[in-house]
Amino acid sequence: MIILKAEREIGYMREAGQILARTLAAVKAAVEPGISTMDLDRMAEKMIRQAGGKPSFKGYKGFPATLCTSINDEVVHGIPSTKRRIKEGDILSIDIGVIINGYHADAAVTIPVGEVSPKIQELLAATEKAMWAGIAQARAGKRLGDIGAAIQAVGDPLGFGIVRDFVGHGIGQSLHEDPQVPNYGTPGYGTVLKAGMCLAIEPMFNMGTHIVKVMPDQWTVVTTDGGWSAHFEHSLVVREGEPEVLTVQRVESPQSAVGSGQ
Ligand code: MG
Repeated sequence: MIILKAEREIGYMREAGQILARTLAAVKAAVEPGISTMDLDRMAEKMIRQAGGKPSFKGYKGFPATLCTSINDEVVHGIPSTKRRIKEGDILSIDIGVIINGYHADAAVTIPVGEVSPKIQELLAATEKAMWAGIAQARAGKRLGDIGAAIQAVGDPLGFGIVRDFVGHGIGQSLHEDPQVPNYGTPGYGTVLKAGMCLAIEPMFNMGTHIVKVMPDQWTVVTTDGGWSAHFEHSLVVREGEPEVLTVQRVESPQSAVGSGQ
């Protein structure tokens, strides 16, 4: 069952999205060779709690941390660790969720650490572009297949493997609600989108095969061929026109910036 959200509920998700965006920006800025994924996790949890939010992932089905940190051939759901240090030339996916008043926002980004090869740069750029192509289809009257097809239309011609075992999702009072939002599909098919639906759109593109497996830690998802993987995600509200993306950082107006002493 797909739950349409009232504006009051969307307001909470918008607030969660803004705390998320500010936290994610700070975590990205802190990424450098030598820092551990646990250092990043602690920073994120502190920022979220200081802003009055709660981490969505911590405790979700037993997940132990605030962030999912997935490096190189890790696709999603990597567990932060003091032993896992970022190296020059890595790519790092940071996935983060925030709860305000019981409502979630969810987003992810993959960043290069220093220099990466042109092909890896292309992988990152294509995955982000595909996410935005999917988001552009998230309008009332369109269908779920339009989102998946738009994502596929970016990844397929470049030969990237588009992960099928993990997909986007509805979001609201639960981190994962109906509908599932696959990163593949046929235009004009699937559930019709309605204003007030809240979706997390999150393509995962691999350098090689789309086939993935879960590691013995029961969480970390890796590519079966060792190819590197990128993941981008935003949470949004379907509207009659352009979707409202909740997890993009809004720039404060000059007045409020002065007022807050920042
Ligand atoms: Mg998600």
